[in-house]
Amino acid sequence: MDQKRELTPLSALGEFGLIGRLTGSYEPSRPSTIKGIGDDAAVLSYGEKVVLVSTDILVEGVHFDLTYYPLKHLGYKAVAVNLSDIYAMNGTPEQITVTIAVSSRFSLEALEELYNGIYLACRNYNVDLIGGDTTSSKIGLVISVTALGTATQDDVVYRDGARENDLICVSGDLGAAYAGLLILEREKAAFSADPNMQPELEGMDYLLQRQLKPEPRRDIVETLREMEVKPTAMIDVSDGIASDVRHIAKGANLGCVIYEDKLPVFQATWDQLGILKIDPTTAALNGGEDYELLFTIRQSDFEKIKDHNDISIIGYMTEQAEGYHLISRSGTKTELKAQGWDALRE
Ligand code: ADP
Ligand code: MG
Repeated sequence: MDQKRELTPLSALGEFGLIGRLTGSYEPSRPSTIKGIGDDAAVLSYGEKVVLVSTDILVEGVHFDLTYYPLKHLGYKAVAVNLSDIYAMNGTPEQITVTIAVSSRFSLEALEELYNGIYLACRNYNVDLIGGDTTSSKIGLVISVTALGTATQDDVVYRDGARENDLICVSGDLGAAYAGLLILEREKAAFSADPNMQPELEGMDYLLQRQLKPEPRRDIVETLREMEVKPTAMIDVSDGIASDVRHIAKGANLGCVIYEDKLPVFQATWDQLGILKIDPTTAALNGGEDYELLFTIRQSDFEKIKDHNDISIIGYMTEQAEGYHLISRSGTKTELKAQGWDALRE
């Protein structure tokens, strides 16, 4: 009798489970591959400096909705999120490649808008566009950016370098990009898909800016360098810090404790989330797309960063047996669950 092979639905694995299954037993063989799969960027060495490489893909209908996403902002964001991964390695981005798949519904003018955003990000972050690929698509717009950066071997900060009792820090504020997304979803009907009709978003509300035009934290990487603080581990916050802090803990075989009252959420975010009936803590932990830097530092570096007004100390690393925990405002300890963005979960 025919044995029917059991097929595994992707939703059973989730994004990280899938990557693990596809690549978990793969071992790179070249000596120049210092770090392959598993961090914000790969680390390659061809000489004195190491080269950092990171790729992200944005798919219409999955990552963005063109009824409210101006193409210029989309181009900017596609570059920004990749540069964020290079900064998360404590590197300096230098070049990008851009690959697009477009359907016939797009005009030259629409794609020029996309590229205006790409070029703006290139200027702002001093990177060169050096190539890419263009093809057609039947499912809408797909845009994939690869960023290349450099660092000295000593400067690179991996996800897995945290040590017990290290302090967990995050730059900027959390939850605003998610609040911005919810506002856009709510206002969706008001926007037109015509690129010429798209609303001018310059100077608009902070929450929309955070969703539509995220800025990677080059300034934080530079500040840490000036303060002579080298994080022990670092990741950029793309999926929500609950998920991202677990990556750091898992990578180092440690546990972690996060304090709810230390999570940096702006008043404007708080107010808007209230109207939307979303718990600010949930948005801060799981909203995602903040593109802030989440990093761990030694306790001995506490004095150097404690007065920095754009860095919050939100918790510390524990031994693995402690697990992942959140201490609420009232002092209750609960498990820190990752409910963040996962491309493949239903
Ligand atoms: P980030 O959120 O920082 O962009 P991801 O979570 O997307 O990182 O990816 C985690 C790691 O898995 C990275 O090293 C990435 O290069 C690798 N990766 C993701 N998708 C694939 C794939 N389809 N094949 C090989 N490696 C992948
Ligand atoms: Mg990343």
